[in-house]
This record gives sequence, structure tokens and C-alpha cells, in this order.
Amino acid sequence: MIMRDVRELLLPHIRKLTTYQGVDPMEVLAEQAGIAPENVIRLNGNENPYGPSPKVIEALGNFRQYNHYPDQNQRQIREKLAGYLNVHPDRIVVGNGSDELIDLILRIFLAPGDNIIIPVPTFGMYSFSTEVCGGETITVSRDENFEIDVAAIKQSITSKTKIAFLASPNNPTGNIATESQIRSILDTEIIVVVDEAYYEFCGQTALSLLDEYPNLIVLRTFSKWAGLAGLRVGLGVMSPDIARSIMSMKPPYNVNLASEIALTVSLDDLPTLTGRIEAIVAERERMMGLLQNVHGVWPWASQANFILCRLPDGRGQEIFEGMCRRGIFPRYFNNAILQDYMRISVGFPEETDRVIEVLSDLVGR
Ligand SMILES: *Cc1c(COP(=O)(O)O)cnc(C)c1O
Repeated sequence: MIMRDVRELLLPHIRKLTTYQGVDPMEVLAEQAGIAPENVIRLNGNENPYGPSPKVIEALGNFRQYNHYPDQNQRQIREKLAGYLNVHPDRIVVGNGSDELIDLILRIFLAPGDNIIIPVPTFGMYSFSTEVCGGETITVSRDENFEIDVAAIKQSITSKTKIAFLASPNNPTGNIATESQIRSILDTEIIVVVDEAYYEFCGQTALSLLDEYPNLIVLRTFSKWAGLAGLRVGLGVMSPDIARSIMSMKPPYNVNLASEIALTVSLDDLPTLTGRIEAIVAERERMMGLLQNVHGVWPWASQANFILCRLPDGRGQEIFEGMCRRGIFPRYFNNAILQDYMRISVGFPEETDRVIEVLSDLVGR
């Protein structure tokens, strides 16, 4: 028997999928630049340079029951989060990173052929996960200041539109969605996901709208503020009906015991983590001032832990590659809107100083 090409068995939308471009591991970056991993300045993933709370590291090493399955109902961690967020635990679902919640939300609302709406530029996972579900993405351009064009979003909604994703603060532009923008889109009665991955760096939240709008879902993550990107801890807050529905269809053990411990101990060590958030916010403001003084670089004011910079016309990729060769890795987006932009995460002060030095040199050529 001659086996036919197994690829023919794949669903058509999976066969033509464009893979999400995540950040490469440290060793890969080091090899690219031909330098030692410890000399790499990694500013492409909005990670927390301070790492997790030291108490998290200690608790993970001391725990002995990794042979047990975690609680599929997430009782303890939902209870713990309810206290932190000041919402009822029935409204909370915890995920393997907030990326998993994006996927789960799409899977309960989106049938093949349905669509989502996103103001662009924004986070890449919304359209990627939509593609995986066989759905389509309607993109609506932000205005010249990267503000959301609410009227254009409303006009673009069709009978097949199920969800709008609004990142606030937005990645990669750093600005927030205002309450009135969020309300206007909620009033259309489609599901509105407000992704607050950077909430702890700005303090603005849509949580208070939950009682009024059962079609609102707020996402949070421990990846950025709590330094847990590698442990995958994210969550959604939503109407109890949607939460129950996601709890009933999610992979039962989606949050592992190490993630549960890291979440719990992080919330028990808020003073340490809050101190670091304050240091990152202060460093963001210092970096902003320094970037404003680099001739040919136009930084965008940010409420998150990164800054988007515009570079001289036609020179985005060249300047990005120049930085990588010198061991600094910012994020470059190879698309039409952001060709001459670069997003730089806020790292340690000495990393900022090196960024400014190298950037001034490259742009000045
Ligand atoms: C980083 C980021 C996430 C991813 O969070 P995880 O919890 O690590 O999956 C989600 N949304 C936005 C806007 C982000 O920038």
C-alpha cells in the first residue's frame, strides 16, 4: 500500500497557517550576535528584568507533591485571585498564560467563517489564534496617534463578528483604551475582550464595568509585572456564565502546580513586586527622556513596560539589525504599518544606557 501524503488530511486553514513569531531563547540570540549569553541585552519580550519574587523560587524548590494533579476547578487560586482583584471567584478562570484564555475564548464563540475585530497595530496572538480556529480577522487602523477609531470599528462589524480585542495598554503602542471607547464597543453587544497584560504598570482597568456588561472579558497575566513569563500564569475575569462555560471545556489540568505556587506566593509578596514595578516605571520615564534626545528617534509615550520608537523613514530594519549585531535585541515588526518602528522593553538602567549609546551611533550614521 502506498500511503498518501498525510498533509492532505490537514484542515485547509491549518495547512496555510502563518506561525506566530515568539521571542527566541537567550542562547540563540547570543549565537546570532556572536557573544556570550550573559552579555545579551534582551529587550524584545517585555519580560521583567528582576525575575520572579525570591520567595517564589524558594517555594517551588521546597514543594514536594508534584506527583499530584492540580485541581481542575482551580479552587484555591481563584479564591486567592478574587481577593487581589476584588471580584467573585465565580468570575475568574486561570489559564496557561493569558494566551490560553485568548484561545479558549475564541473556541467558545467563533465558528469557522466568523470574524473578530482588532484595532491595529496590536498584539499578534488575537489574529493568530483566530486563524487557528478557522476564523477571520477584520483589522481597523488606529489613527495617527494610535488611538482607537471607534466609529470605524462599529462600521466594520458584520453579522459574523463575534469578538473585539482591545489591548489596554496596547502592545506595541503603549497607550490605553479609554472607558468611553470600551463602552461604545460593548454597547454593540459583541464580546469585548480588554487585555490588561500591562495593568500593573498603569493602574487603569475596565473591571468596574463587569457588573454592567455581561459581554465584557478582562484579561490579566503574571508574565510581565510578576516576572513569571516562563511559568505561564494568566487569567480572565468575566460574567459567571462565560466563566462556567470556559471552566467546563478547558483542558482539565491546564494550570500546573508550579504555576499555582508561583501565583499564590507572588500575591503573598506584593511589597517586593510592587517595588520592582515602581522601579520599572521610573526607568521607563528616564528612558523616554533619553530617547527624546536622540536625533532621529521619536518615542511614543507609554503606560506599559516598553516604548515604541519611530525611526527615520526607510531605516527601521537596518537600525534594528545593527542593534542585534551589537548584542541588543529590541522587537521589530516586519509589517507595513510598523516598518520604521522598533519596540524596546524597559530593562535595567545600565541596559537603557547601552541602548541609547548604540542607537545614537546607528541613527547618526
Ligand atoms: C505579553 C502579552 C500577553 C501574553 O501573556 P501571557 O500570559 O504570557 O500569555 C497577552 N496580551 C498582551 C497584550 C501581551 O503583550
